[in-house]
Formats: sequence, structure tokens, C-alpha cells
Amino acid sequence: MQIYLTFDYEIYFGDRPGTVEKCILEPTRMLTEMADKHDVKLCQFVDIGFLLKMESEMIKHPSLQKDHAALCTQLETLWKTGHDLQLHIHPHWEDSYYDGNQWVCKVDRYKLDDFSNAEIKSICQRYKSRLEAFTGPNEIYAFRAGGWCIQPFPRIKNALYENGIRVDSSVFANGHYESELYKYDFRGAPLKSKWKFSDNPNIEVPEGDFTEIPISSIHNSPLFYWRLFLLGRLNPYQHKPLGDGIPVAAPGQRLKILSHWTHNTVSVDGYNASLLWRAFRQHHRAKKEEMVVIGHPKALSRYGLKALEQFIIDKKSENQFTTFRDQKKQFI
Ligand SMILES: [Zn+2]
Repeated sequence: MQIYLTFDYEIYFGDRPGTVEKCILEPTRMLTEMADKHDVKLCQFVDIGFLLKMESEMIKHPSLQKDHAALCTQLETLWKTGHDLQLHIHPHWEDSYYDGNQWVCKVDRYKLDDFSNAEIKSICQRYKSRLEAFTGPNEIYAFRAGGWCIQPFPRIKNALYENGIRVDSSVFANGHYESELYKYDFRGAPLKSKWKFSDNPNIEVPEGDFTEIPISSIHNSPLFYWRLFLLGRLNPYQHKPLGDGIPVAAPGQRLKILSHWTHNTVSVDGYNASLLWRAFRQHHRAKKEEMVVIGHPKALSRYGLKALEQFIIDKKSENQFTTFRDQKKQFI
């Protein structure tokens, strides 16, 4: 099996977004040191709109220069050492700002589809070009939508295609959620680990313009999440996220997972990492050729890092840990 370890490289977007050091730099260093030790490459889906906003806010707020330099150095090092950088778009940075003390996230327009056609085009073009400055030309072709909000796709499609995007990794089987800000519904998407699509990532089109490499999905009982929240209380040193911010509100989401069986991403965020082995067995049984794990440096816990390391040790000899960068020939 080909296993992709993917991370959304970003701070939090709630009322307290947290610091760049604790949400991004430090946990990414820990992840990369561990991965380098086992010669495994990671893919960072970079929230590059944040870096661009930082660059415009730095003029008024020179105190941001330190974070900016550290992020640029880390991204350069990741690419130079063989890790992958691909495009993650959180367009709310267009409306957000730095108030001299912390980032103020304006999330009224959270999804790309909340913007005009001209804005979508400009966002995709600027974000991709900025990321390309770290990788060199023709290296950015994979995309993950912020908050999984890739739907509706038709108005986004051309802007992505014109900017060289050929792969998406936003879908996870049977996932669905809708609130004032969020909207995604992957019920009905193929239960496969790869397919082609054109206008709707849920619908397979054999000659489609894009390849979907979905995030792996797992069906979880409410009990799992009770245990997850309890462990965070009982043993915060091992189980609390390293990031120091709070997420954007997702009303009803916590109640839903604590009271119903739910479909969720296969993730290394905190205690979710304990499910890697079960997810792998399910993929193996279904003869899937790809498994995509998602994580967020900001949501990494000491427990999650250790579990991921053990998973790599267990699976490395008989499987291939890979990145979109390593699989470029397949997609371009
Ligand atoms: Zn994100």
C-alpha cells in the first residue's frame, strides 16, 4: 500500500488563533525529526494565504518579521530535505488582519465558493505562486480545501486547473457537515482510494481533469470520543494538543460525535492516532492501494507523535510511505 502522511500547516482560526511557534513551527520540527529518523517524507498542505497576509501586515507591524522569517526558513528546509509542500487554501485570510497583538480571523467568508469569480481566480493564482517560490516551478499540483469545503466545485474548478492543480485530497468517504460557515457532503462519493473527476469530486468520471486521492475515512463510535476527551483531562501532558489556540466554532459537531456513530478522517491528531492500525486493516481488506492520513501540527500531541512513529516502524517494510511529490509522474 502507498501511505500518504499529510498535514495541514496552519494556526487556529478561532478567537484565540495561537502562536506560530506552538501551532506550526515546534510541532512540525518534532514531526520532521521523527520522520527523518525513519527516512519517511511528509506532505505539508501549506495555508499559504496566512504567509501572504503576514507579508502585507508586516509593513504596519514589523514585530511579525520574526515569525515570517522562521516560517520561510522551515518551508525552505522542508522542501530541500525532500518533504512535500502542496496547496491548502483558507481564503478567509483575505478578510483577516493582525491587530498588533494577535491575528483576528474574519471567517464570514470561509469557503472559496463564498468569493466572487474574479476573487477565486486571484486567490488561486496568488497562493499557488507564493508557494511555488519555495518549490520552484511546476511542483504544485495537489490541493486540499480549507475545512474540507471543496463544494460546490464548478466555480473553483477552472481557477485550480489553470494554476496547474490536478489532484485533490479534500474528500473523505461519507463525511458530511453543514453550519453557517462550513458545508461539505461526501455521502455518495466512491468508496475507493483513487478516482478521476471533473465537476464534482463525488462523481467518478474516467477521463476527468482531476484525480481524487481522498483522505481515508473511519467509522467511529461515540465511546471513542468520550475516551478521547477524558484522556485529555486525565493526562494532558500526553494527550493535549501542542498548539496554543482554539479552533473556529463548529456548532453541534462535538455533540454529534459524542452521541452518534460518525464517519471521520483517519487522523494523527491526538488520540485519533490510536486508530491508524484499524484503518490500515480495513484498507488492506478492501484491497485499497492508497491510504491518506491527515494531521495538523497544531493538533499534534505527544501521544499522537509516538503512535505515528510506531505505525511507521510497523508498516514501513511492507508498504511505501509516499508523497504527491514522489508520485508526480502519476498525476502530471
Ligand atoms: Zn486547514
